[in-house]
Amino acid sequence: MNVHESGKVAIALESIGYVMPGEGVVPDVLIFNTCTVRNTAESKILSHIALAVYEKQKKHNKQIIAVVGCLSQRDGAGKKLRQRFPEIDIIIGTHNISKIAEFVKRAEAGERIFEIKKEREKAEQFDNLVVPGDPQKPNTHYVNISHGCDNFCTYCIVPYVRGALTMRPSAEITNEFTTIVKTIKEKQSRETHTIYLLGQNVNNYFCNETGLDFTALLKHLCNLVDDKIMINFLSAHPRDVSPKLVDIIAQYPQIERNIHLPIQSGSDKILEQMNRGYSVADYKSIITEWRTKIPGIRITTDIICGFPGETAQDFDDTVKTIQDIEFNAAFIFPFSRRSGTPADKMDNQVSHAEKKKRTTQLIAIQREISKKLG
Ligand code: SF4
Repeated sequence: MNVHESGKVAIALESIGYVMPGEGVVPDVLIFNTCTVRNTAESKILSHIALAVYEKQKKHNKQIIAVVGCLSQRDGAGKKLRQRFPEIDIIIGTHNISKIAEFVKRAEAGERIFEIKKEREKAEQFDNLVVPGDPQKPNTHYVNISHGCDNFCTYCIVPYVRGALTMRPSAEITNEFTTIVKTIKEKQSRETHTIYLLGQNVNNYFCNETGLDFTALLKHLCNLVDDKIMINFLSAHPRDVSPKLVDIIAQYPQIERNIHLPIQSGSDKILEQMNRGYSVADYKSIITEWRTKIPGIRITTDIICGFPGETAQDFDDTVKTIQDIEFNAAFIFPFSRRSGTPADKMDNQVSHAEKKKRTTQLIAIQREISKKLG
């Protein structure tokens, strides 16, 4: 999501005359599009910001430093950044990132900007900017289908920093998607490209104007691509997986057979405390159906180790679940406390050492499973 959004920021700045600097060139504008989903992401970005500020002071240059995105949006964090680093010229959150070009113009004139909005501002023009591709993976492209999230999983900061769920009209999605398809075709690339549909909970998608739900949208987009362009989506939520989804994936070879479906825990008790809205049995039945109807499908997942109240038994249940399901790959992380979320206030926190131990153990088990599946 952030990579894609950063691409839009770059295009917005091109519209006021900036270009991407070459390797080793000190940029006139340095923008940090921040993540706050885990504490480690936050610590990393803070050390990068500190370094940039130090360099700016040392060189006495007029570089504009901007901090945008989830970290500055998080309750009180933007204000703290401002106090700690007065050299930052622009601090804005997620809800007004669409106005970045205007803010940079104002900073050029010497203004210091600190603007954190409570709700997402109208951003049609910014949303409709077409990003050619992921700079690190040029054959990968992204299209947002929704913004924000209303699910309030108890560990997650996203609903607080990205705001309420809003669906993008399907006509806008189709326009952006078609432009990307056209650009790929014009390049006459012989390689396969993948376009990811992005949202915090993609299978909850519904367009009020056209009545398209996620499966209808997928079907519609599949009819716009040829066999050199694949479609994927990030992320689906197990609670909202409809039986129609598997049929659409099975029917359309244009949809990648590599699906990410976050399980988060293999313990029903923990899933309930996470407010995930499904049980391990529900999850397993989705996977069984997908594997039956879609030969060759690869399933990846996310798992949190050491959620508050996770006992040794709950952890064993997670181990058993990943051994039963056999994911092709899993992103396994220790639970990270996020201030303002219900899980942060739970009094039965698992110790740092125990979270680390469980994470290491689970990664080792998953590594063996991934190796076996190839
Ligand atoms: S669905 Fe995803 S983004 Fe939304 S609250 Fe849950 S974990 Fe966070």
